[in-house]
Amino acid sequence: MRRSPNIIVTGTPGVGKTTHCESLVERTGLRHISVNQVVKDKTCHEGWSEEYQSWIVDEDKLLDAIEEDVAAGGCIIDWHACDLFPRSWIDLVVVLRVDSTTLYDRLKARNYAEAKLQENLDSEIMEVLLQEARESYDEEIVIELTSNSLEEMDSNLDRVEAWVKQWKADNASSSA
Ligand code: ADP
Repeated sequence: MRRSPNIIVTGTPGVGKTTHCESLVERTGLRHISVNQVVKDKTCHEGWSEEYQSWIVDEDKLLDAIEEDVAAGGCIIDWHACDLFPRSWIDLVVVLRVDSTTLYDRLKARNYAEAKLQENLDSEIMEVLLQEARESYDEEIVIELTSNSLEEMDSNLDRVEAWVKQWKADNASSSA
């Protein structure tokens, strides 16, 4: 049994996953698992895709690489996909969303090539990650939060922090 919950923070690149995760670590003491970093550091990939400008992830290797940490609980998994993580691992899925104009500006600032930028904008407009989360996990544990402004981010952080406290209180009493 976990004493601390595991959370996925997901969404299209540029929505604010890493920024949210870093603040959540400070506020909750949970650990940030940046999947991009794990993929690079532990070579959980089959090489670099020029077409997609990203690593071709070996999902089995990735799951093996993080399994021990996640089993212990208290992890915030940060990635632009969520359907590969077993349901039994996860207590909350946060899907971050932004308006197209905001996302355009953020990806442009990262110097994304036009095709990749457009692909990510389409994915955000089509709610691809939200659908993926809803299809992969129980509806009650999936929450959609907007991340257009610092005010919205603050309110998201308050909400997730309160959720973590409540989860810990509920799970402490149920195992007593
Ligand atoms: P992701 O991890 O989803 O790719 P990042 O956390 O790297 O996104 O955020 C992308 C950019 O957008 C960063 O420059 C970050 O400072 C900015 N940003 C993220 N969320 C917000 C927000 N709620 N309000 C204003 N700027 C934000």
